Amino acid sequence: MLDVLIIGAGPVGLACALETQRRGLRTAIVEKGALVNSIIGYPTNMEFFSTPELLEIGGYPFPTSQYKPLREDALDYYHRVAAAEKLELRLHEKVLALKGEQGDFTVTTDKGEISTRNVVVATGFYDVPNLLHVPGEDLPHVSHYYKEPYQHVTQNVVVVGAKNSSAKAALQLTRAGAKVTLIVRGPEVSNSVKYWIRPDLVNRIAEGRITAHFNTTITAIRPEAVEVLTPEGPLTIATDFVYALTGYLPDEALLGRLGVEPDPADEARAPLFDPATHETTRPGLFVAGTVCGAGPPAAGLSKTDATTRSSLPSTSPRARPLAPPSGLLLPKKKRHPQRGWRFFLGNRDVYWGGNITPR
Ligand SMILES: Cc1cc2nc3c(=O)[nH]c(=O)nc-3n(C[C@H](O)[C@H](O)[C@H](O)COP(=O)(O)OP(=O)(O)OC[C@H]3O[C@@H](n4cnc5c(N)ncnc54)[C@H](O)[C@@H]3O)c2cc1C
Repeated sequence: MLDVLIIGAGPVGLACALETQRRGLRTAIVEKGALVNSIIGYPTNMEFFSTPELLEIGGYPFPTSQYKPLREDALDYYHRVAAAEKLELRLHEKVLALKGEQGDFTVTTDKGEISTRNVVVATGFYDVPNLLHVPGEDLPHVSHYYKEPYQHVTQNVVVVGAKNSSAKAALQLTRAGAKVTLIVRGPEVSNSVKYWIRPDLVNRIAEGRITAHFNTTITAIRPEAVEVLTPEGPLTIATDFVYALTGYLPDEALLGRLGVEPDPADEARAPLFDPATHETTRPGLFVAGTVCGAGPPAAGLSKTDATTRSSLPSTSPRARPLAPPSGLLLPKKKRHPQRGWRFFLGNRDVYWGGNITPR
């Protein structure tokens, strides 16, 4: 039997695993895709917003030739750390459910069952897009994930959203020769777009290379056009492809099956957990990383922000969990302040598993 099973081999799952393993706890990670699966799905030439030291785990330096790491640098880095630490990985195995209780959990996957004393949920929030909920959103020329511009050269492409992901995609598509129309719900390009990206996009709109419709919502997507509602009235925009880059949500259905209780007072339905230990209301079941508080800001919240928010629950308004009812606080004897362990993703706290004790 494992001491700790970590669900999700993203940066946070890896950070948790190497810390528990270093402390003598028998640990494994179960991951539904490949190692650091979410990062594999990011735009091909993506440059991280964070500098390398903020993405480091386990004390391993993350050397990069540039100021900001590229997606491939990060893939390489996390692969090497996992190999160096000889982490036990069960890849391409999807977690479906959890039964039992602390000390004797059974995790059901699509390949079988795993016995473990404790479970850490580090499933991030990149698998469930924040849908527009309009007719036609499921058509084959609509995607919620952007990779690269090359298949759209000379084509009409509608990009929905005006935050970091959509801003970067619109710029890249335009430079590759696509004709981009940006549909923005708000009155302007969001002020949360990074300071080195926003002026680029605003200037491309001003010079007419990108057409932008502000205060505009999509009402329907058809195979050859999108229907929008602008302040001046309805409009039909001819398009070959649609990128709805309106963010992502934690997998609420999975969290429910695992027994992670959502915070009833939180609009984003972030998990309810003890901020000191990251233990949920189900004893022995912990949450770590962006799954803790990403929520549906989806509408463009950068994952960087989400990571920071989940890492700083006491100061972040969105990720701040409600004070759990007193009965849910861990009994003092379990807290072992001297034996509590602090985990880091870069220089940020991600998890403090004070009540996971070695056999
Ligand atoms: C375009 C983009 C740019 C970003 N830039 C930055 C940046 O500059 N700086 C920064 O700090 N962060 C950035 N992020 C976010 C960063 O990647 C995340 O903060 C980080 O990946 C979160 O780590 P995580 O381990 O919490 O989640 P993830 O990396 O999403 O890992 C979760 C893992 O859980 C797995 N999983 C989910 N469900 C199951 C299941 N049922 N069974 C088994 N496994 C499952 C997933 O496949 C995934 O591999 C960016 C994100 C995106 C999308």
